[in-house]
Amino acid sequence: MSPLGKERAVLVSAEPPTSEQKTRFTAFLKKKYLNDFELIWQQKESIQNGFILYVRSEIYDWSTEGRLRQVTDRMNELVLMDKPLIPLIRETLSHWQTAIIPLEIGEVESVGDGIAFIAGLNQVAYGEILVFQNGVRGMVQELQPDHIGCILFGDDEEILEGSMVYRTGKVAGMPVGDAYLGRVVDALGAPIDRRGPIHSEEIRPIENPAPGIISRAPVSRPLQTGILAIDSMFPIGRGQRELIIGDRQTGKTAIAIDTILNQKGKDVICIYAAIGQKNSSTAQLVEQLRVRGAMEYTIVVNASAGEPAPLQFIAPYAACALGEYFMNKGRDVLIIYDDLSKHAIAYRSISLLLERSPGREAYPGDVFYLHSRLLERSAQLSKAMGGGSMTALPIVETLAGDVSAYIPTNIISITDGQIFLESDLFAAGQRPAINVGLSVSRVGGAAQYKGIKKASGTIRLDLAQYREMEVFNQFASDLDETTKQQLLYGQGLMQMLKQGRMKPWEAEEQMILLLVMLHKVASVLQPEELKTWIPAMIGDIKEKLPEVVSGIAQRKDYTEEEMASIIDRASQFLEEWKAREN
Ligand code: ATP
Ligand code: MG
Repeated sequence: MSPLGKERAVLVSAEPPTSEQKTRFTAFLKKKYLNDFELIWQQKESIQNGFILYVRSEIYDWSTEGRLRQVTDRMNELVLMDKPLIPLIRETLSHWQTAIIPLEIGEVESVGDGIAFIAGLNQVAYGEILVFQNGVRGMVQELQPDHIGCILFGDDEEILEGSMVYRTGKVAGMPVGDAYLGRVVDALGAPIDRRGPIHSEEIRPIENPAPGIISRAPVSRPLQTGILAIDSMFPIGRGQRELIIGDRQTGKTAIAIDTILNQKGKDVICIYAAIGQKNSSTAQLVEQLRVRGAMEYTIVVNASAGEPAPLQFIAPYAACALGEYFMNKGRDVLIIYDDLSKHAIAYRSISLLLERSPGREAYPGDVFYLHSRLLERSAQLSKAMGGGSMTALPIVETLAGDVSAYIPTNIISITDGQIFLESDLFAAGQRPAINVGLSVSRVGGAAQYKGIKKASGTIRLDLAQYREMEVFNQFASDLDETTKQQLLYGQGLMQMLKQGRMKPWEAEEQMILLLVMLHKVASVLQPEELKTWIPAMIGDIKEKLPEVVSGIAQRKDYTEEEMASIIDRASQFLEEWKAREN
């Protein structure tokens, strides 16, 4: 009962009720519910005759359509029972009673900051979508004995205390379909790129259980990023979840976007979920993708920093639902969550507003589940399930390189590895600024191309030795010749791993680079010289050994002879190059 003692009932019809009809309805309500009711009228053109009355948890359907429905229901019953129709229909009509359909209407207790507390919805389920009187939708996020908390997907300014809320009985869904490719949409699936409406095939629930163990197959096919440091040392397999982690402005987004660009012509569908990013940077990113023809196979889901926390909260789940649509059709999907730190912060503000008790760093107790249920949905599906896959590259921002903060440790433990980016390396010009010692890929090795795996050989070990030696010799003035050589070799490898933006290496180029560099063909060159020598050498080998290159490109592997001819040619080219330089 409302605090004022007077309850509300909603009367819906095409024409407004006359005052006499109104009096009749209030009298009916008073008699039936023993209380005074305020009658609110809502117009609905589609009700041609009669009225529908919503009161408390019930609906009285006095419309012609409602009556007819009852009669046809009764007719169907009679036909099934093989009874004579006419007399019984006549009887049904003469004893006609209003259908009472249970319905729950709640009342807004308080509203603000994208959250509403509602009283009176006792049967509502967690995650159910509610509709407010002004048409705004919300999702139930908190169930308490006397009230529920609901996050709002629209403006909360028009929702007033005391206004009505209806149940829909549905969970939040994301419209999905092939027409989404090339589009930029918001967290509810509505287009925001001014390219017209999108035709969707179906609506998928945004929260969906992850594929079980039987539906999965081992990660066994590579997803090439085109970034040499990653593909050689931290390979990513289709269906894997690899975290990209680092401080602000260390090139996290750049790695993700370059990976999308590298999927051109490789039959991978890419989804970029921007969570809490600036609209301007997302717009710039979409432009970059469009110019390079990458939007054709990409969908961008954007919930910017300016949007309410509830939308930022659901954005990755909505993007994941889109990804699942394609994965279930047997396609390979790459999904990027940029970034989950901001997602956790959006969830924290929702939780605090919903009056949940704060835990470590003021995050609610279920913040681990927030991300594990999202990332578990990435998978390599089994053959029986169509063999599709969804590879996830979640991004996490750290503060001052602190990977032991709450959200980073959580997500590190959920993912199959991490690419750790470092400000110092970035500032020193080592880009992508990947810290080789702290990065790891736990399942990708099994999926790596054979040739790249072989060619990578001892690169991680060599780099580890180089790092140690570098620290050790930082203050040494005169070094012996072998140490100098080893340092130079290490510097050469670091130079090899430098890669500009949007300059992906193909698998065969990566093999050539690794073979030549790890066989110390160019060990006499200074890092500065390598910068120009490397692309020139790759170009030369492609030109001089076209069959070898196309062979290894096709097989993603090389034979001993192919390796020998590549190394031979590179040494020859070095001689020619040196002669030319002099
Ligand atoms: P934020 O924390 O703001 O999201 P971020 O870590 O995502 O930053 P990016 O936006 O990807 O970083 O990159 C920061 C800047 O560094 C950009 O201007 C980008 O173009 C540049 N950058 C990134 N990677 C490279 C690279 N390999 N070579 C040259 N420039 C790069
Ligand atoms: Mg970024």
